[in-house]
Amino acid sequence: MKRHPNIAIDGPAGAGKSTAARLLAAKLGFIYIDTGAMYRAVTLKALMDKINMADELAIVQMVEDAKLEFKTDETGNTRLFLDDRDVTEAIRTPQVANHVSLVSRIPGVRHKMSSLQRAMASRGGVVMEGRDIGTHVLPDAEAKFYLTASVEERARRRHEELKQRGYEIELSEVMRDIRQRDEIDTNRSLAPLKPALDAEIIDCSAFCADQVIELLLAGVSGRIE
Ligand code: C5P
Repeated sequence: MKRHPNIAIDGPAGAGKSTAARLLAAKLGFIYIDTGAMYRAVTLKALMDKINMADELAIVQMVEDAKLEFKTDETGNTRLFLDDRDVTEAIRTPQVANHVSLVSRIPGVRHKMSSLQRAMASRGGVVMEGRDIGTHVLPDAEAKFYLTASVEERARRRHEELKQRGYEIELSEVMRDIRQRDEIDTNRSLAPLKPALDAEIIDCSAFCADQVIELLLAGVSGRIE
C-alpha cells in the first residue's frame, strides 16, 4: 500500500507553528504531532522527580523509563499522557519552559524522542512540528517548512498566550526565556534548531494564522495528493 506523505514544520518558540500545524493537519485529515510537548513532558518529570538538571545520566535514565502517549479526546483534541497521567496543561508552565532546553540538548534524550517520533510517522499522514523534524527526525518528509518571526513578535504572542491562561508574567521575562531557549536550541551539538536545506522559510511576523495556513496549503499542493 502507498504510504501517505509527511509534513515537517520547524522553527523557534512563538513563531505560530503549533496553531499552523494543528490547522493544517485538520484541513488535510492528517495526524498532528507536537514534538515540543514531548520534550516538555520529560522536563516536567525531571522537575517532579527533583533531578539535578546537570545530571545528564539521571535524566537519560528517567527518560528511558518514561511512558509518553498522545490520545485524542471526545472533542477531537490531542492530549499528552506521561506515565498514564494527563499532562497537557501541566507542561505549559513558565517553569517547564525555563528548563526544557536544558533537557532537550542531552543527546540520550534526543535519541529516545527521535525514535518515538519516527515510529509515529512511519505510516505517513502526519504533520510533525518541532525544531529538528526536517533536518533530523524526518529528513525524507515530502514537504518541509520553517516558520519564524521577529523575537519581539514571538515574545508578544507567547506573553498573550500565557496571560490568557492566567499567568501574570512580564513581557520582558517572556522575551528573556525565548532568547535563552533560542540560544541553547540553536547551539546544541545534536540536531540544533535550523532550517532544512530544502525547507520553505516563512516569516510569520506580519501574518495571521489564516494567512500562514494559506501559504502552507499552497506549499504542499503538488507535493502531496
Ligand atoms: O515547541 P515548544 O516551544 O513547546 O518546545 C519546547 C522546547 O522543546 C524547545 O525550546 C526545544 O528545547 C525542545 N524541542 C526540541 N526539538 C524538537 C521540539 C522541541 O529540542 N523537535
